[in-house]
This record gives sequence, structure tokens and C-alpha cells, in this order.
Amino acid sequence: DIPSTDNRGFKGHDMLAPFTAGWQSTDVDPLIIEKSEGSYVYDIKGRKYLDTLAGLWCTALGGNEPRLVDAATKQLNTLPFYHSFWNRTTKPSLDLAKELLDMFTANKMAKAFFTNSGSEANDTQVKLVWYYNNALGRPNKKKFIARAKAYHGSTLISASLTGLPALHQKFDLPAPFVLHTDCPHYWRYHLPGETEEEFSTRLAKNLEDLILKEGPETIAAFIAEPVMGAGGVIPPPATYFDKIQAVVKKYDILFIADEVICAFGRLGTMFGCDKYNIKPDLVSLAKALSSAYMPIGAVLVSPEVSDVIYSQSNKLGSFSHGFTYSGHPVSCAVALEALKIYKERNMVEKVSRISPKFQEGLKAFSDSPIVGEIRGTGLILATEFANNKSPNDPFPPEWGIGTYFGAQCEKNGMLVRVAGDTIMMSPPFIVTPEEVDELISIYGKALKETEKRVEE
Ligand code: PLP
Repeated sequence: DIPSTDNRGFKGHDMLAPFTAGWQSTDVDPLIIEKSEGSYVYDIKGRKYLDTLAGLWCTALGGNEPRLVDAATKQLNTLPFYHSFWNRTTKPSLDLAKELLDMFTANKMAKAFFTNSGSEANDTQVKLVWYYNNALGRPNKKKFIARAKAYHGSTLISASLTGLPALHQKFDLPAPFVLHTDCPHYWRYHLPGETEEEFSTRLAKNLEDLILKEGPETIAAFIAEPVMGAGGVIPPPATYFDKIQAVVKKYDILFIADEVICAFGRLGTMFGCDKYNIKPDLVSLAKALSSAYMPIGAVLVSPEVSDVIYSQSNKLGSFSHGFTYSGHPVSCAVALEALKIYKERNMVEKVSRISPKFQEGLKAFSDSPIVGEIRGTGLILATEFANNKSPNDPFPPEWGIGTYFGAQCEKNGMLVRVAGDTIMMSPPFIVTPEEVDELISIYGKALKETEKRVEE
């Protein structure tokens, strides 16, 4: 996920933020989480927080699902590790591949490749696509088009695909073969009087213009999240994916669906592709795949692509790519159990049932004078603060409105994700109606406090 870039002089554990995720330091006071239970986490001082981001959009089954723990324990006791290289593999890895290929029905998928993370899944996509085009004898078809504000990961290539300046600046990224097209955020970028459909038409035209300018014979693939996540929770405007897919298809460009956040029910459909009628050639998965109990990512590959890669006729040799922990049996066993639970508990239906309460309950705050837009679908939502309801009139960054709101939530026992003046939430799929009520109530309190601060 995106390391926070907030650095507005806030005390306490906020001071960790500028040092980016994963860095630890002893001279700051981080919020140390010790225990989790359902939709809640507890810090080392015993304080309880409603975890509205489900960790990092990932603990779909909440904090203490015993079946996932049992699945891991059983696998650890049987075969803690064996690899999946050459003609060797393990049963959990094979079973998980089969299960995922059966589950993904938006387009037929023929092969699954396992990684340890979403970033590695997207890096793998790039190598698959390059190998595919080399096998087809078109070595110049190598460029990728991603979108501004997309988030695809933190490795060199997945950060290149990402469309957030903070992930590029000072890292000499993006890599030269990555191009970015428009972010499909209607509220922020539509022209006066332009409908959502017209906005989508204009963005598809801009994409086509970019392809023509670069030369279609040089563009290998387009990558998109069905709903943009870390870039600010941006659901696509009406007709967007229909129009984008038509352009991509026209120029023989592969479509990669980055389902790392959207898959397994988050949007009220099993996959984001189901919701928006996306027919991808390649799919990236991670996060809820194991409900985050073990690290695992996956790439699904269509038969059209895998046939070329694996055909006897290609002269390139094997697709030499793999990680020691690709298909780690413990991660696969946990993921298999998570998928079983999603099915048994009708999790997609459950999310569909509870999401109107979550969406409507929070969108009711849209009238607040400091709210620019509240947007989302299913169990994912963002609030963007703005002056005068205008995307072009942000609050001065030094006011730290988003951070202040986040701190008010935390004070009242709730964790949200703060990115500048955008607040993001994606509660676990198991969130109860009572917990949604609590979430809305704390949100309302925090909003009131933040309104007061703006008035001052
Ligand atoms: N793709 C999307 C859409 C994501 O949201 C993320 C992480 O937040 C990634 C890829 C990268 O996944 P990971 O952090 O597991 O490498």
C-alpha cells in the first residue's frame, strides 16, 4: 500500500509517516497494535479501535477467524514448505490454482501463478506480457499504459505502473516503457456540463490518441483497478470500462485487471470485473485472497496468452520466473480456506446486503460544508474534504484537515486511512450492522469536530 506522505508536524505516531511504511524507529511513539478480534484491533495499552480499513484493505474475514488459523497450523504440521518449481509442487498450491481458475468467470482463465504480494503479481504481469509478445515475434510491443492515481505496488515496475508522483519522485521512476493516461475521477476532472458518459467518451478518446501517438505496435498492455483504491477510492464513471475496453481491443492491447483490492466480494460482486463487465486477459490478486492471514498474491492468465507462452513452437525457452515462496503451501492452505469461507457464508451477498447501510449512512454527510465528495461502492468509500464543495478549492495543506479528522476518529476508537485531505475506509466483509452504526456515529462526531476546526 502507499506509504503515507503526510508530514504536517503532527505529534506522536503520525511522526512515523514521513519515514514511509516499514521503517521503524525508537525515537517516535507509534500506535502499536497487539491483538485483533472481528472488526476491531487493540493497541498495547488495551485500547480498542474499529478497524475501518481492514488492515490495509485486506483482512476481509476480520481479526480472529479460527478456521484460517487451523488451516495454517494443520499445513505447518504436515508440510511447512515445499516449492513449486519445475515439475514439483504441493497439493494446496494446485488446489488453489484450480479453485481460482474456476471462480473467475468474467473471462476464461487457464493458468495461475503465485507470488507473495500484489506488487510481485504486477511485476509478473509485465514479464508475462513481454514474453508473450516476444513469442509472437513482436519485440517492440512493450509499453504499458496505466492511469494517473492508480496504485499497483511498490517494486520498481509496479511503482512505475502506479500513477502517484510520490512513488516516482526521487526514484527515477516511472520506467520509460510506462505511460499514464487520465484518472477517471468524474467529480475532479469533468468539464462544465459534461455527463459521466461524455466524460468516459472523452477519456477513451484520450487513451486512443495516446496509443496512436506512440504507435499501437508499441503498446503491449493496459492495466487498471476496477475501482481505484489507494489513489483515493475512485469508482469508474458510467460506461467507462466499456469504452476503454473497446479501444484496447481495437489495437490488440492486453487488458490487465488489478483486482488486488476489489476481488472476493469487496464491491458486492465476487470480482470487480464482474461488476463492470471487464473481460481481462490477465488478473492480479492478493490481500483478501488469504484474508491477509498469510502473504500471497496470484496472477491469472487467459488461455490465449498462456497458450502462446507455453506453446512448444516458441523458441524462447521456458518462462524463467518464480519466487522461492511462490505457491507457499501454508499461504495456499490459508487462501483455500478463506475462499471456502467466502462461499459458505455467501460473503458476496452479505456485502451486498450491508453495503447500502454503509454507503448511504456515510453519504448522508455529503452536505457538510467541509466535504467535497463522498464516493464509493460496496464496502469501500472515500471522503474528500474541500472548500466550497469544489475539487479546485482544497484546504491549505498546512491546516491538515484530513489528519485532524483521522486523529478525531482515533480518539473515538476508530482507525481510518488518511491521505492528505482524503479519508479512506474498507471495513472487513464481516462487519455487522451494529458496527456500521458505530462507524457512522464516530465518523459524524469526527466530522463535527473537524468542521469546528475549519471555522476557527
Ligand atoms: N495493486 C493494488 C490495487 C493495491 O491496492 C496494492 C496494495 O495496496 C498492490 C497492488 C500492491 O500489493 P502489495 O502491497 O501486496 O505488494
